[in-house]
Amino acid sequence: MKKFKAESKKLLDLMINSIYTNKEIFLRELISNASDALDKLYFKSLNQTLGLAREDFFIKITRDDKNRTLTISDNGCGMTLEDLDNNLGVIAHSGTLDAKQDIKEEDIEMIGQFGVGFYSAFMVASKVEVLTKAYGEDKAYLWSSDGAEGYTVVESEKESFGTDIKLYIKEDIDDENYSKFLDEYTIKSLVKKYSDYIRYPIKMVVTVSDKDEKGEYVEHESEQTLNSQIPIWKKSKSEVSEEEYAEFYKEKFHDFEAPLKVISSSVEGAVNFTSLLFIPKRAPYDYYSKDFVKGLRLFTNGVMIMDKCSELLPDCFGFVKGVVDSSDLQLNISRETLQQSRQLKVIANSIEKKVKTELKKLLTNSREDYETFWKQFGLQLKFGVYSGFGEKKELLQDLLLFYSYRKEKLVTLDEYAESLTEDDKYIYYVSGSSVESVKSLPQLEKLGENEDVLFLTDDVDEFCLRIIGKFKEKEFKSLSEYESDKQDEQKDDEKNEMLDYLKEKLGRVSLVRLTEKLKNHAVCLTTQGAISLEMEKVLNSMPASDGGARAERVLEINKNHKIYDKLCALYESDKDKCADLADVLLTQAELSAGLKVDNLADYSDKVCKLIVE
Ligand code: ADP
Ligand code: MG
Repeated sequence: MKKFKAESKKLLDLMINSIYTNKEIFLRELISNASDALDKLYFKSLNQTLGLAREDFFIKITRDDKNRTLTISDNGCGMTLEDLDNNLGVIAHSGTLDAKQDIKEEDIEMIGQFGVGFYSAFMVASKVEVLTKAYGEDKAYLWSSDGAEGYTVVESEKESFGTDIKLYIKEDIDDENYSKFLDEYTIKSLVKKYSDYIRYPIKMVVTVSDKDEKGEYVEHESEQTLNSQIPIWKKSKSEVSEEEYAEFYKEKFHDFEAPLKVISSSVEGAVNFTSLLFIPKRAPYDYYSKDFVKGLRLFTNGVMIMDKCSELLPDCFGFVKGVVDSSDLQLNISRETLQQSRQLKVIANSIEKKVKTELKKLLTNSREDYETFWKQFGLQLKFGVYSGFGEKKELLQDLLLFYSYRKEKLVTLDEYAESLTEDDKYIYYVSGSSVESVKSLPQLEKLGENEDVLFLTDDVDEFCLRIIGKFKEKEFKSLSEYESDKQDEQKDDEKNEMLDYLKEKLGRVSLVRLTEKLKNHAVCLTTQGAISLEMEKVLNSMPASDGGARAERVLEINKNHKIYDKLCALYESDKDKCADLADVLLTQAELSAGLKVDNLADYSDKVCKLIVE
């Protein structure tokens, strides 16, 4: 007997013993494997003439009440001895599990949804036998396991290629009715529920009652196909329930939650195609990492030709999952020719527009859902605006949300612009690490009562707005630059000797100036020029940075604050002390702007000195 790998063993134990209620998914998993095996053989037959016709492929379910067995058979590619070891000896073929090191009881529900595949059979079976013969091989093998420690494989007999998976259904216990999985009606409805779209017939012998010659009903057995074989995306929207879409999505795209939005469409034009797209409720755990691969599943005439066709989705909509089916593409097309395919570009453009339209609709009609979406994928949209030199900014700008200071919630650029008059030239923004920290910035005091400002709290935000440049003729402007736009009071200040002296002494600001716009705060730190404080932080944290990006800092002193009078007095009596006080004020401003201060000890010394003297 060969032993299961340790991690497989652990998962198996959890599966078998868990209270996981959704045991019925085992059938979906086994049928899906059978369908995959048929696909594999069919694919092979396309490139080599094997004399196989698509119509000959089938999946068959056989119930045996007396012996309590349920068998799922297919005439697909089958498995060699090596395949058996590789595929059924270890669990975690699904990437999700590979990524999870430590599997816990709570994970079972999620794992079940992801499709743990073959092993789910052990939730309902006390023993599983796999009789299989690979296509083109002479030998057949019988794999057998009770799910406990390991499995055995012996050579065996099988007439034709393909696989029979035989489940020995468990005995019923108190609150667990396993017998129902031997029941004709249950199996029929499970196939309908989970596997209706499988493109091969799923056959089973069922009892039908017909009228005989005498007009009386008699029951007899007949083999029937249980599934419609129509892919879900080929059905019209009215035929498919929300739940069915959700089930399909969860199974095919490994999510344990229903999608936030289903977008189904059928396009007739230069290229005809049908698509069924999903916007997930939550970003996959690896979404913002380089491991994530975007793409849509591509079919032609119901046959899958590519699992993740990335050319169909722009990066900014990389979170979209789904399928595209077009009869205008060739079946045995190669990856290279596919990439250049004109048809593919046409489809991609149309999908981009469609996703945009649907997101816009969501934004307008169900704001709450849109905000759920924004929380997960807003960052992606903002990156989308910024990357590619802003090539997608037109597409994306009206999908953006930023926090509004006055409205105290997320607003679109449109909503911000609404409250502007013709004389207003700018859309103001202010950056910081969080809404809370921005709220405490002194420069907010400068704003007029009716003026609003957007809070930028993600690294990419400022870059994003700068690349948009203007929205509805209004330019984006940092609140740091507010003063100079409003009035030109600099001229007076230029004559202020003390300010020049302080600039010199402080060393780390490009300008010290007076402001009358602050109310309670004594000073604030702003910037001038192209780089803001937030951008400085972001630029310097980039891997390729030499740490040399620097914002030109401006220390603004509230002209109407007592501190200003104090500074002036000290400037007359004790210039050094005046500089010390200014340094303390600047450090405080730096701290409240979230900057790192190099010499805090020096700062404390100065504060103490000022207090004592
Ligand atoms: P997955 O389907 O995600 O790969 P499974 O646990 O469902 O994971 O199946 C494991 C592997 O076992 C499959 O990838 C396939 O190689 C093999 N397998 C399972 N069932 C069959 C079958 N009916 N015919 C051929 N191979 C199969
Ligand atoms: Mg599987």
